[in-house]
Amino acid sequence: MNGVKRAGDGEMVTDPFLIGSGLRSLRRRRCLLWAVILLYVPEIWVTLAWTHSGRAALITFYVWFLFLWNTVILVAFTRCPRCRNYYHIKFAFPLYFRHCRHCGLAIDADKRGAL
Ligand SMILES: [Zn+2]
Repeated sequence: MNGVKRAGDGEMVTDPFLIGSGLRSLRRRRCLLWAVILLYVPEIWVTLAWTHSGRAALITFYVWFLFLWNTVILVAFTRCPRCRNYYHIKFAFPLYFRHCRHCGLAIDADKRGAL
């Protein structure tokens, strides 16, 4: 494949197009995570305003938490487009920094022309 080498041996993807498309996918996933997080307050507020029911709010919370959990897992296990390791996980826990925890690839490296 063009510019793609096996990961895990310290070799990295070198094709700027592949790295750029991987970073765009990663940014979309992170944006989805923020959207799910920010959805919590209006979702609970609307549920309580419409139903005046704590039970409905609890069910809404469980549904929201299910979406949050899935999105957190989706983002946490996204692979770095350059080194093919997990972008946010280096040891056991994900840390959502804006650079790869292994090779240091910035999340906006394609926008800055730093590839
Ligand atoms: Zn990396």
